[in-house]
Amino acid sequence: MNFSEIKALDEGYVLQTYGRNQVAIDHGCGATLYDTEGKMYIDFTSGIGVCSLGYANEAWAKAIYDQAMKVGHISNLFYTEPYAKLASRLVPAAGMAAAFFGNSGAEANEGMIKTARKYSYEKYGQGRATIITLKNSFHGRTITTLKATGQDHFHDYFFPFTEGFRYAVANDMDSLLAVAGDDVCAVMMELVQGEGGVNPLQQDYVQSVAKLCAERDWLLLVDEVQTGVGRTGTMFAYQQFGIQPDVLTFAKGIAGGLPFGGFMTSEKCRNVLRAGDHGSTFGGNPMAAAAANVVLDALTPDFLREVQEKGEYLRSGIAALNSPYVSGIRGMGLMIGVGIQGMTHKELKDRLMDKGLLCLIAGADTLRLLPPLVITREEIDKGLAVMKEVMGA
Ligand SMILES: *Cc1c(COP(=O)(O)O)cnc(C)c1O
Repeated sequence: MNFSEIKALDEGYVLQTYGRNQVAIDHGCGATLYDTEGKMYIDFTSGIGVCSLGYANEAWAKAIYDQAMKVGHISNLFYTEPYAKLASRLVPAAGMAAAFFGNSGAEANEGMIKTARKYSYEKYGQGRATIITLKNSFHGRTITTLKATGQDHFHDYFFPFTEGFRYAVANDMDSLLAVAGDDVCAVMMELVQGEGGVNPLQQDYVQSVAKLCAERDWLLLVDEVQTGVGRTGTMFAYQQFGIQPDVLTFAKGIAGGLPFGGFMTSEKCRNVLRAGDHGSTFGGNPMAAAAANVVLDALTPDFLREVQEKGEYLRSGIAALNSPYVSGIRGMGLMIGVGIQGMTHKELKDRLMDKGLLCLIAGADTLRLLPPLVITREEIDKGLAVMKEVMGA
């Protein structure tokens, strides 16, 4: 099918809930993609930070195929090897104590919120269930995670929302203290706010929050759905902030393109959720777990150093454009935000796409770059050449 045939079917039969790019992607290799009309693109999106190993990675595809030919799904009522193996590798790499496997970021955050509330309920009883989250955050699209998201426009239409969230301004301890009360059980945050505009939190702020959490026995909940699994140049972003979360979530990049998400708890919280308290039919599906094991195979210390170096290379390449449209460059590793002025971020994204570079947008004015972690310097150079053509001085 060509693009217009695909688009017509989509418009005829799919809820039109996305502001879609006017392109149908057909196939790819590494960080290079091709649309149905044969046009080539450099990919700075990895499908919103998901395809960490790029497209058509052979080890990844083979692991999925091999597992599919053994057993594709069996549910959590049985043990499977890829699942147990993944947990035994991911948990120590994350510096945590135990994992729960689900399928998406929002679902992972729901489990993290349940853990915080049950921890507090068992220790302190009712009336201590409020979770402080940050303004400009994004935590998901379920009724609860929409309410956890600190952006007003996500709180329209779908009433009644889950109660028990209050919002503090990021990087501002006074704002946090102003909403803190006896009813609080946790603080939940992204260390680099992704959808909100690629805003890294300040290290001293994050450490102050962690200290306050420890003092008041609030759980420190870190949403690493976007920042986790190598994206920022370490296994998890928190490892660059000098803190230890009580619970952290992951999803997007973990299985390199198959749906997978989950959370990990510290020793302190590992016995909060017990048999019957939480579950998922698809969670930890053996094909997805096999794929995630291949992603972990790739994330060696050398590979993670490369992620940091390629991130710096891309950022300095953008800075060197001296573009009148760039108001600032932020981010960590291969999670990069470029502040845009003189044009809307949407318009710029469309112009870049037209010339063969796929990018994301975030916040009100940010071009968001989340290339596959395996992107080569040649591919980065090609992407930068498109940027130069579209937005250079
Ligand atoms: C994408 C994202 C989510 C939601 O993940 P889904 O898989 O879409 O449910 C939650 N938190 C953060 C930080 C995200 O970037």
